[in-house]
Amino acid sequence: MLRNFIQTAIPAVSSRAYSAPAGAGELNDDQKQLKETATRFTKDEIIPRAAHYDKTMEFPWEIVKKAHAAGLMNTDVPVEYGGLGLDTVCSVILSETIGYGCTGVGTAILGNDLAATPLVLCASDDIKKRFLTRLIEEPIMAAYCVTEPGAGSDVAGLKTKAEKKGDEWIINGSKMWITNGGVASWYFLLARTNPDPKAPTGKAFTAFAIDGNTPGITRGRKEINMGQRCSDTRGLTFEDVRVPAANVVGNPGEGFKVAMKAFDKTRPLVAALACGLAGRCLDEASKYSLERKTFGVPIAQHQGVSFILADMAINLELSRLMTYRSAAEVDSGKRSSYWASIAKCFAADTAVQAAVNAVQTFGGNGFNTEYPVEKLMRDSKIFQIYEGTSQVQRLVISRQLLQKVAESGSSSQGF
Ligand SMILES: Cc1cc2nc3c(=O)[nH]c(=O)nc-3n(C[C@H](O)[C@H](O)[C@H](O)COP(=O)(O)OP(=O)(O)OC[C@H]3O[C@@H](n4cnc5c(N)ncnc54)[C@H](O)[C@@H]3O)c2cc1C
Repeated sequence: MLRNFIQTAIPAVSSRAYSAPAGAGELNDDQKQLKETATRFTKDEIIPRAAHYDKTMEFPWEIVKKAHAAGLMNTDVPVEYGGLGLDTVCSVILSETIGYGCTGVGTAILGNDLAATPLVLCASDDIKKRFLTRLIEEPIMAAYCVTEPGAGSDVAGLKTKAEKKGDEWIINGSKMWITNGGVASWYFLLARTNPDPKAPTGKAFTAFAIDGNTPGITRGRKEINMGQRCSDTRGLTFEDVRVPAANVVGNPGEGFKVAMKAFDKTRPLVAALACGLAGRCLDEASKYSLERKTFGVPIAQHQGVSFILADMAINLELSRLMTYRSAAEVDSGKRSSYWASIAKCFAADTAVQAAVNAVQTFGGNGFNTEYPVEKLMRDSKIFQIYEGTSQVQRLVISRQLLQKVAESGSSSQGF
């Protein structure tokens, strides 16, 4: 039965470059090749430099440029716009592998996917040509601008507004906590376009693609965060920013749906990044426990320590299953928010717990910057916050669960 489940969780991929069906419980040959390439890149380019970027908080341009040249970024941009058009399962493989090396670098790379996904899903051919093609042609960054100083979880409370004047929209407002905010060449942005505070959310907001050079955009200072410190997080202000009407993503008034739809596809990638971090924690803790001796034996031989490792392994494997399942749901074309939220929520909690456990396994050394696990602990916390907090994921899950039960009388008939 488990084998059957894994088969469902890792399905055939439908891209040009990686098209063979997956075998029973294993990646198919093309997926394995992708995994090997990403693993080599992570080992050679990310792991040796992760501590440097963490310390200096520099944006990892050198790694980004190499990842771009190796075809490891923006992989879901469709073939007709120059990309590989990889499916979500492949993107999850990449994300988990890069996350094993450094989730700060991973978040910078994923920031592009988050900005590009609403365009891939909802933008006109003209916008896709102008914005997505650029991501493939050069190693540039993009950013997804939804959160504001006064509204994060409560997206409907956004205050940034866009007013239509002739063939243009004029945008005014502030965004906060924007990944890639200071380095992005273009922005995806959500603004209120219906001034009536009683207007339904599904009709009150409009989404835009905005060139980063447009006059009126001011990038704030780089935020100094607890972890993932090389990722560039900033506030941005938009003052009389004029955007052509042709840059509306989806239909005017329907921006909320555009912005939220993207999460179904990107939350599995965030979950995968968290799995990568949890896997790194497990490896570091396991290796250390085999080397470090107390009371005459390696600490791995103390049941109290080996059970910590077992719990880390249990949660990691379950997180992986749910992450791949959620990616497979996206690729099947079905509505996948339920699975995406379960994967993101569980993998985030797993990553945080794994990091705490890794530090515990290292004892005093775990608390020290000379060892790798304190960075993992700092890096892990954000998974319970960005792309929807763990509470917000539980809201999504419980709403869909209750709707299903109200409709069919059962939660177990699948979504
Ligand atoms: C490093 C970093 C990178 C980020 N990158 C981006 C980005 O690229 N683009 C972007 O748009 N945003 C980004 N964000 C913003 C992020 O998505 C928000 O911080 C997050 O959604 C939470 O919003 P908030 O900070 O306003 O917290 P609040 O919404 O104020 O929440 C505070 C607390 O209350 C809880 N809470 C709120 N409402 C409820 C409720 N109804 N039920 C139960 N609990 C609730 C929350 O779970 C949280 O614990 C980033 C944030 C950080 C820190």
